[in-house]
Amino acid sequence: MPIRVLPALLIDQIAAGEVIERPASVVKELAENALDAGATHLEIEVEGGGVDLIRVSDDGHGIEGSELARALERHATSKITSADDLARVASLGFRGEALPSIASVSRFSLISRTSDAPQAAAIEVDGGAPGTVRPTTHRPGTTAEARDLFYNVPARRKFLRSAATELAHVRRAVLRLALARPEVSFALASHGRALMTVAGAGDRAACEARLAALLGEDFLAHALYLEHSASGLKLSGWLGAPTAAQSQSEHQYTVVNGRVVRDRLLASAARQGYHDVLFHGLQPAYVLYLELDPGQVDVNAHPAKLELRFRDGGLVHSFVSRSVAQALAATRPTAIGPGPARGSFVPTAAAATEPDRSGPPPRSLAGALDWTVLASRPSPAPPVPPLGYALAQLHATYVLSETADGLAVVDMHAAHERVIYERLKAEAAAGPVPRQSLLVPITIEVEEAEAEAALEHAEALADFGLVLNRIGPSTIALREVPVAFPDRDLGGLLRGALRELAERGHTERISAGTDRILATLACHAAVRSQRVLTVPEMNALLREMERTDRADQCNHGRPTWVRVTMPELDRLFLRGR
Ligand code: ADP
Ligand code: MG
Repeated sequence: MPIRVLPALLIDQIAAGEVIERPASVVKELAENALDAGATHLEIEVEGGGVDLIRVSDDGHGIEGSELARALERHATSKITSADDLARVASLGFRGEALPSIASVSRFSLISRTSDAPQAAAIEVDGGAPGTVRPTTHRPGTTAEARDLFYNVPARRKFLRSAATELAHVRRAVLRLALARPEVSFALASHGRALMTVAGAGDRAACEARLAALLGEDFLAHALYLEHSASGLKLSGWLGAPTAAQSQSEHQYTVVNGRVVRDRLLASAARQGYHDVLFHGLQPAYVLYLELDPGQVDVNAHPAKLELRFRDGGLVHSFVSRSVAQALAATRPTAIGPGPARGSFVPTAAAATEPDRSGPPPRSLAGALDWTVLASRPSPAPPVPPLGYALAQLHATYVLSETADGLAVVDMHAAHERVIYERLKAEAAAGPVPRQSLLVPITIEVEEAEAEAALEHAEALADFGLVLNRIGPSTIALREVPVAFPDRDLGGLLRGALRELAERGHTERISAGTDRILATLACHAAVRSQRVLTVPEMNALLREMERTDRADQCNHGRPTWVRVTMPELDRLFLRGR
């Protein structure tokens, strides 16, 4: 075949292949145009999951009648003019590809009016050939309409799923945009039936109400607000409590300069921020907003702009992971505390009505907010400490404690483990742990792999106060031990720690590896369940927990304590009904 330049329509359809995968992509592109036009109200209507009809109306600045045809041309955009602009894009669009692409694979029309124009102008495109611009009526703003998506691209049409599935994708696309732009109101309807309606939110309380509507009350009930700026970066948003993490979470959203992105670096930074408090394999929920100078990020890395590239990825990664970790460090017991954890024995209806509105806020997001504030406020000591006073031990596993508003049930091993872990980390950060040498070294028989792990981690172990050497293929001598744990079964502790280190292999990075060693030591040094504690010992543990960062979860992210309030107990006994 001879070489030839492709016809314009085919070029547009090829370009459409990159940006327009399904109805949801059309919704995304049209809604992004509306947002770029400064719209404050977006109305989105679909039929047949968006295949039959997509209509997006906005109250943005509109398009001049004289420019309407140009908006449909390939590579025509009002958003950038130079490579300089491209290097610091502040708008969602900039490629000038969406409208011609959509118009080439649907029956498309565009009606628009600027605020100072006496009337609106409309243009229709059917199969790639734009008609003539004609006057019409429309309020200031723009309405774009795409019908019969892919009617002329059978190959694409074949890949569309059922209307219900496509509608679900549309919904998700609108949800993501609504999360990205809290100040804009969104209404989504299918066949005239409202599916999602959220008003623009001006302040944090309104944002939270909106988040609850978009992501569900459950997310908010366990969320922690975060806001942190440094080095020209600002991170804000909501972190799901570690104890509310799930094995799968669809609620992981990162918004960069008003654009929802699926970015590996940010996802990894968030995960690292949670690493110390998350049960293995569980996924936290979060909505995070990162703002930075547009010049610091390249948004031209993906046709649908779902991915981006940071100029200084290392800086962004450490900023995000540290901000998240710091915010989560505030999860320590307070008078309000974490409330019943997942799988709690409190009846589910209990959370819905909290009679005492004058007292500490209920477990709403607002509660979570005040809760962090309370944790750091140097207020006069409350009459009863947050975790109250120990009453008894249950089955040598749980500590029961009377609190100001009810009962606290503490998993003593999990709680002690966290307390020790945080103490070890603080000590390790301050320098090598003080240690004492043993008159008679303790010899320990281990597996060969464990002996190797001992050698490999010898330096780190010494920093934590454990000095050892290998005296046989499977024999270790422990020569010095931490001053802080003189009376523990150190042989058993070390053997357990080495077993875990050997199992985990050698792939950990140094610092993560260090935390692992500390966590392992903490787990083995913590009181085992089945040990009987005296009341003073129990109270000492409670007071330690109140002083310890992240004390609401053990090192594996399991909750360390749950709270049962008097109203919840009353409800169990049908009191006051
Ligand atoms: P891009 O968004 O990358 O600029 P598009 O093909 O999506 O390219 O849109 C082309 C141009 O049409 C935009 O640059 C903008 O000037 C104009 N436009 C599109 N939709 C709207 C709208 N809803 N309101 C105002 N202007 C719009
Ligand atoms: Mg666009």
